[in-house]
Amino acid sequence: MWKYFKKIIYYLKETFTNMIKFLDLQKINAQYAEELKKAAEEVIDSGWYLLGESVNRFETNLANYIGVKHAIGVANGLDALRLILKAYIEIGFMKEGDEVIVPANTYIASILAITDNRLKPVLVEPDFKTYNLDFDKIEERITERTRAIMVVHLYGQICWGRKLEEIRRRYNLKIIEDNAQAIGAEWNGLKSGALGDSAGFSFYPGKNLGAIGDAGAVSTGDDKLAEIIRALGNYGSRQKYHNEYQGLNSRMDEIQAAFLTIKLKYLDKENDRRREIAQFYCENITNKDIVLPCHKDHLLSKSLKFDFTHVWHLFVIRTRLQNELNSYLTSNNIQSLIHYPVPPHKQQAYKEWNIVTFPITEKIHSEVISLPISAVMTDEEVISVVKAINSF
Ligand SMILES: *Cc1c(COP(=O)(O)O)cnc(C)c1O
Repeated sequence: MWKYFKKIIYYLKETFTNMIKFLDLQKINAQYAEELKKAAEEVIDSGWYLLGESVNRFETNLANYIGVKHAIGVANGLDALRLILKAYIEIGFMKEGDEVIVPANTYIASILAITDNRLKPVLVEPDFKTYNLDFDKIEERITERTRAIMVVHLYGQICWGRKLEEIRRRYNLKIIEDNAQAIGAEWNGLKSGALGDSAGFSFYPGKNLGAIGDAGAVSTGDDKLAEIIRALGNYGSRQKYHNEYQGLNSRMDEIQAAFLTIKLKYLDKENDRRREIAQFYCENITNKDIVLPCHKDHLLSKSLKFDFTHVWHLFVIRTRLQNELNSYLTSNNIQSLIHYPVPPHKQQAYKEWNIVTFPITEKIHSEVISLPISAVMTDEEVISVVKAINSF
């Protein structure tokens, strides 16, 4: 009873006070409502709902945007990663029990994709400054069964470097990008999704390019891999009722592809606005209890030799007072979230790892807080967040 009462109070508070939402999806999609509704109508009227013109068009636009030969629409981001690994197994590049290096502090989906294929995730600690995979810790974890490295561009920041390319060459590994959080980010003029051998994208509604439901994609320059993934996502079939592989049903809906085609046009503009907000946060949050994100965004540091852009899927700060700051922000009508409260190796789903410790990962998880950031936040809202943080 009390639980419901609290829920109602929260709802009323959110409705009647100027609650600053962490992410206002309704407002984000309202910007394009007219176009989106027209697109929905067209798909409904077409009578064709899967593997049709909308998906073809979106795949072409996405491939052009990323600068890669193939883009394949799938059902969601987790499936994109599952299908990539499954295809490498079908090709014969890896087999059951082979190892895939992956950052220990990633969202659990990266790891689920690996174990789902009966491959072995080898968790590696991130760099404590960027929260991305620490390239100096990879080589010591490579064995004769290592086949791939899954890099995660966490929070929207590119995880790439010459050192990583060198390791790939030396050990003949595939690099799979988990690009769920960084669509539009660049390294040295190349977009995330065009850096590795293959990449998985998520268009979960809250991602920088969000569908109105679930959707995902794979990108790759590898013709064979692309062809197999296309078949694997469609029951392992190239020709109806002829099944070459034990596949999945993981296809992008025509209606989601139509929505995404529209939203892709506005992605760069939205990412620019996120960058503007991030820059404002970085320049104006002065509270000494807060550690700001360490980034290599070229807008903020033009002197870097390599050009990085960050797309700020999340603006993640750190503080020893995680719980205190979180409740303080709530009491100031600001919604904040923790990405993520429990690291994968402490999850019940991976009981066998619960006794292992990853000190950097655990410290990150116990200190991070994500502040509101999105293309529809107003200047006033951004200023209110800064004021609240500075007076904490
Ligand atoms: C969102 C996300 C995924 C999974 O994407 P879904 O579309 O939700 O399946 C995978 N990896 C990372 C890092 C993510 O943030």
